[in-house]
Amino acid sequence: MIITREHFFSPSQINTVENCPYQWKSDRLHHPRITTDMKYANAGSVVHQSIAEFYKVIDQEPTKGTIKGTFKLILDRNWKASGLKGLDSRRDKSMSNFIKFECKRLDTWKQYKPTFVEQRMKVMINGINYHTIVDAYWEKDATIVDWKTGNLNSIGVSERIQGQVMKMVVEAYKKPVERVMFIALKIGLDLTMPATTYGFVEAKVKSIFERDRLNDFPKKRTSLCSWCGYSIRCAMEKRCLWM
Ligand code: SF4
Repeated sequence: MIITREHFFSPSQINTVENCPYQWKSDRLHHPRITTDMKYANAGSVVHQSIAEFYKVIDQEPTKGTIKGTFKLILDRNWKASGLKGLDSRRDKSMSNFIKFECKRLDTWKQYKPTFVEQRMKVMINGINYHTIVDAYWEKDATIVDWKTGNLNSIGVSERIQGQVMKMVVEAYKKPVERVMFIALKIGLDLTMPATTYGFVEAKVKSIFERDRLNDFPKKRTSLCSWCGYSIRCAMEKRCLWM
């Protein structure tokens, strides 16, 4: 058994088991892993950090010009400091699509500045511990937003797991949530999570406990294997090198 009832489940852990149970087990057992290309993940972190910084300094009722100028200044500065190379088009798309989303929101939402940003939250629901980071939440609009800087263009199972965990956790803090939005900054799409139930997430977590009980962590080969730090160990396991 590699987990206890005290374990805290994050959306990314639940999604790792969903994508490849063997990879999750390897994480839990701290198996050695190879370094994979982190440039896209680093680019995503710079965009997230810049958005959080933007919300700290922007006025409660800014103009569209202030939104554009302030975000451009912050993202350009952070991008330069990060030393990221060859991803300028990703930076430019994230910048223009974030600014477009914010300008539209300024005219249509009840509250411009979020109630909180990049908030770590933990809670127990029905005997299961969850933890998550919420990118941004607006109480008057009862809305959670998660920024995506990769190739997302539709809501799949992993976004429903992530969105529903964030919704459950924020609601457990007595804050209303009517909408969970994923903003695909690379292509400029606003995606709203379809109705999802608590039972959907709970069933996923229960299946992890069951896998643990049975020690059932099979390898699941998908396109994600190219980004997996355990790819060499995974390919070599149970092979005898001297025969
Ligand atoms: S290489 Fe693929 S199958 Fe192997 S652990 Fe990683 S994700 Fe799973």
